[in-house]
Amino acid sequence: MSMKRYGAATTAEKSTRDCLDPWFFAMLNARRQLQPCCWHPPIGTLEVGASLNDLLEGPAMRELRRQLLTGELNEHCQKCPARSLATPAELRARLERSLAEEAASE
Ligand code: SF4
Repeated sequence: MSMKRYGAATTAEKSTRDCLDPWFFAMLNARRQLQPCCWHPPIGTLEVGASLNDLLEGPAMRELRRQLLTGELNEHCQKCPARSLATPAELRARLERSLAEEAASE
């Protein structure tokens, strides 16, 4: 039986999570706070009159993506109960495939 290791501690090789949420998913809660997934605390607040795109492409979201791609995870992603472990190379390859599929479907 295959056992995905959700919530397991990262290792030197598998230093990141198999997670593309910060590229393809976001939640805006009733307090106008942006969450990159169901597990991570909000990373910003959409101020009245501000651009959602600016928040989605802002420094906090870009830093979260960088952390996932390099395996320099913050404490929330380190303890993530929802995504299994991966190497940064595996995550980057999956991201590139997903972006290519998205571009081809447009
Ligand atoms: S907490 Fe988990 S699901 Fe959320 S961005 Fe981090 S790894 Fe992805």
